[in-house]
Amino acid sequence: MIQSIERTSAPVRSAYKQKISAGIEDVPVKAKNGSMGMLSDYVGITETVPIFCPFHDDRNPSAFVVPNKEINNVGVHCSSSNCSTGGVTQWLKKL
Ligand SMILES: [Zn+2]
Repeated sequence: MIQSIERTSAPVRSAYKQKISAGIEDVPVKAKNGSMGMLSDYVGITETVPIFCPFHDDRNPSAFVVPNKEINNVGVHCSSSNCSTGGVTQWLKKL
């Protein structure tokens, strides 16, 4: 777990569970506070965490790491309309 990541109280929207991708490889992510880590470092979080999107040139933290508590996994959900993910949550492929 990353110790210095910022937490947000933003609710997990139902869209996160409705759209599920096939699963992505672990990717480096930059937290809102600038700290770097891997997406897999976030497994175990209980609330969404704002990050800079790893899938497009993100000048503002427009994405979130979102937890899926049921399967103990995390994904990236980007809210930018300019993103290649097209608003589909990119779940980490389970190893
Ligand atoms: Zn994005």
